[in-house]
Amino acid sequence: MGQPGRHRKSDGSRVSGGNSDKKLPTRLVTGGRRKEWTGAVVNPPVWRASTHLYDTVADLRAGLKNNEDGRFFYGRRGSPTQWALSEALTEMEPGAHGTMLFPSGVAAIACALLSVLRPGDVLLMADSSYDPTRSYANAFLKQWGVETRYYDPMIGAGIADLICDKTRAIMMESPGSLTFEVQDIPAICAVAKEHGIVTLLDNTWAASYFLQAIELGVDISILASTKYIVGHSDVMIGSVTTHEKYWTRLRRTAQRLGQVVSPDDAYLALRGLRTLDVRMRQHEEGGLAVGRWLAEQPQVASVLHPALPECPGHEYWRRDFSGTAGLFSFVMNGGDEAAIAALIDDLELFGIGYSWGGYESLALPVDPAPDRTATSWQAAGPVIRLNIGLEDPDDLIADLAKGLERYEKAACKR
Ligand SMILES: *Cc1c(COP(=O)(O)O)cnc(C)c1O
Repeated sequence: MGQPGRHRKSDGSRVSGGNSDKKLPTRLVTGGRRKEWTGAVVNPPVWRASTHLYDTVADLRAGLKNNEDGRFFYGRRGSPTQWALSEALTEMEPGAHGTMLFPSGVAAIACALLSVLRPGDVLLMADSSYDPTRSYANAFLKQWGVETRYYDPMIGAGIADLICDKTRAIMMESPGSLTFEVQDIPAICAVAKEHGIVTLLDNTWAASYFLQAIELGVDISILASTKYIVGHSDVMIGSVTTHEKYWTRLRRTAQRLGQVVSPDDAYLALRGLRTLDVRMRQHEEGGLAVGRWLAEQPQVASVLHPALPECPGHEYWRRDFSGTAGLFSFVMNGGDEAAIAALIDDLELFGIGYSWGGYESLALPVDPAPDRTATSWQAAGPVIRLNIGLEDPDDLIADLAKGLERYEKAACKR
């Protein structure tokens, strides 16, 4: 499901959308709210539909000839609820042409890569990529005849040395999953353009909010919208937003694979998106407060937070991002599994679980080492990833302070 990026009536005037002259918080409020989709209410209703009905046989025939997205045709192509979400997401990425929706972030990544790769191609992928993305490349793409070569996320313009005749695409994720290295995206994109290579970015951390990827030179921006766009930990959904050049092949690949998102899920994602601006500012403030506090604790060796100077690529974060999300990791000064469990198990305000981007805080023990092949992960001790939710940061810090005491006691016993 998707929609073309520019919406004009036949006389060229704007229908709605086309808000690119407005600032992002405004676009988050107005995006996708076309009168023909909302009717007399504020939000586009949940349009549940498989069959779309035509008035006449002539209309049906005309519909076949003119079946762009954003028109009634058949439920697999979506209905106004999904079109509104697609349009709003496209408006978050200036320079983008359209957005396709997927039933999860992983489905979005899988389809985006499939739409640009052919058997025989080589894909370059950051060594700090999300584990299921690697697993998709190493298992599915490999079997399909695509070879994946991993690169050091700090490679920058040096990626030129890895390019060969068969290199077709570069899959970036910045900051990296678990370890948060910020990549030099413009340098990598410049090399890619020189060689006619397509660039994709898993932009989930910045949520197309703190980083406008297409404007920065990326061809395809991918979100696990499950995270910050939904924001309430209750929906799985993904999205791919592309430059015009890659739009048709993405749309066709997704449609041929039968990718479809329920209108209920699209509705909830759109509802989340309306408050993204205020939520992200709060995640930013809370994440910075907790991250800075952790950096001063003797039990903590380092804080891997893109907005703090010791994070690799911090200078690129300063240059390219307009702010920071509330997801980061920290490295303990030694300690074992039992000490980490003592820290995390009895936290009062942090849930233990996968995913992130919701309004509630989460703590997760992570091990970046097994996923590395181009680089090796070395750290002073175990790593914990935090999703900082919308709670008051003082309460989160007090909770973590008790956790660090428990960790110290557990570590001393040994
Ligand atoms: C969670 C996540 C995904 C996958 O999204 P799902 O909706 O869980 O499939 C992809 N990339 C990153 C960086 C993620 O954190």
